[in-house]
Amino acid sequence: MILVSACLAGVPCRMDGKDKLVPEIKRLVDGGKAIPVCPEVLGGLPTPRDPSEKRDGRVFSKSGKDVTAEFIRGAEESLRICREHGCRCAILKSKSPSCGLGLIHNGRFDGGLVEGNGVFTQLLLDSGISVMTEQEYLSAKKEIET
Ligand code: SF4
Repeated sequence: MILVSACLAGVPCRMDGKDKLVPEIKRLVDGGKAIPVCPEVLGGLPTPRDPSEKRDGRVFSKSGKDVTAEFIRGAEESLRICREHGCRCAILKSKSPSCGLGLIHNGRFDGGLVEGNGVFTQLLLDSGISVMTEQEYLSAKKEIET
């Protein structure tokens, strides 16, 4: 079983109340091969919500609220679901302060990126779960199928 960011499977859980559907990832969920989670919603944050970005090891909303506790709570609950389903790998939404891998928004809300992982991604990696972005998944899938 694979864990996936819920927004990639078509769940409208993003901060703007929309999804980031990747049909190939939704097919994994529909086929019973993947479990969708949204750590920010599981952490108790509303949808839609203020955008948030990581800065100096914490997470702040654009209006300046420290939402680190909600992000950690959601990441821990998502890890619990991951373990419950025996997931060994995850496909997560790139650049997100929760789900980003390798590159995330820089904390200044200016569209810039910095090296780093989202809160949930880091918890998964620290727990021995493999993580790839949706682009990495699609590239690997294309490579396998050609
Ligand atoms: S927290 Fe992750 S799953 Fe939820 S909307 Fe953001 S990127 Fe998607």
